[in-house]
Amino acid sequence: MTELPLGAAISANLAAVRLRIGRAVARSGRAPDDVRLVAVSKTFGPDSVRAAFAAGQRDFGENRVQEALQKIGQLADLEIRWHLVGHLQSNKARKAVGPFACIQSLDSVELVERLEAEAASRAVSVETLVQVDLAGEATKFGATPDVLEGLLARAAQCRFVRVAGLMLLPPYFDDPEDARPFFRRLRALRDALAQRGVSAAMLRELSMGMSHDFEVAIEEGATIVRIGTAIFGSRPPVGATG
Ligand SMILES: *Cc1c(COP(=O)(O)O)cnc(C)c1O
Repeated sequence: MTELPLGAAISANLAAVRLRIGRAVARSGRAPDDVRLVAVSKTFGPDSVRAAFAAGQRDFGENRVQEALQKIGQLADLEIRWHLVGHLQSNKARKAVGPFACIQSLDSVELVERLEAEAASRAVSVETLVQVDLAGEATKFGATPDVLEGLLARAAQCRFVRVAGLMLLPPYFDDPEDARPFFRRLRALRDALAQRGVSAAMLRELSMGMSHDFEVAIEEGATIVRIGTAIFGSRPPVGATG
C-alpha cells in the first residue's frame, strides 16, 4: 500500500468528512451552514494542523490546556479559532482566557466565576458552552441536568463570560445508534430550558457528535461536531505516550 503524504491524506479525509456532514444535513432537512466542523487535533503536531488549515479548516479543538497552548504558540501565524473541548480545572482558568475562541467544557459555578474574574481583569469576552453530563457517571465531567439551570442563571449575570449553548460527550458505544438517545436528550433538555425562559442566545449551539457518530448527532440537531480520528487518523492509545 502506498501512503499519501500527510497533507494529501488530511485534505482527502476532510473532504470525505465534509461530504458526509453535507449528506446528514440534507437528510435532516437542515441548512448546510447549520453545522460547524471542529477538527480535534489533540496528540497531532502542528504540521497536521497546517495541512488541515491549508485545506480550508479554521476551527480546531484541543482537550488539554498545556498541549493546546504550545500548539497555539507554534501556529500563531494562522487565523485559527481554537476550541477547548477537554476538562478545564478552575486553577487553569487564567491560562484559558484569551487563547481559546470557545471553551466547550464549562461545568461548574466555580469555573464560571473564575473565568469571569479573569476575563474582567483583562476586559476580554469568553465564549463558552456548558458541558452536560447525561449519563450521571461520577467519573465523567460535565454539569448534571439538576444543576444546569443554576449554572446558566449564574452565567447570565456575567458581563464577560457568554454561554452560547450546550456540549455533550456521551458514553462510548460501538454502535452509533446507541448514542442517539443521548443526543436526543440533549436537544430535549435545550428545548425545556428555552421553555423555562433561558435566553435563546445561551442555547444556540449543540456541540455533539464525534468521528464514529457525527451523522447521528446531526440528525438529532447538532450544530457543532468535533471530529479528530476521521480527519487526522488514529491516535496512540491513552498511556502510550508520556
Ligand atoms: C477526542 C475528542 C473528540 C474527537 O474524537 P474522535 O473520535 O477522534 O473524533 C471530540 N470531543 C472530545 C471532547 C474529545 O476529547
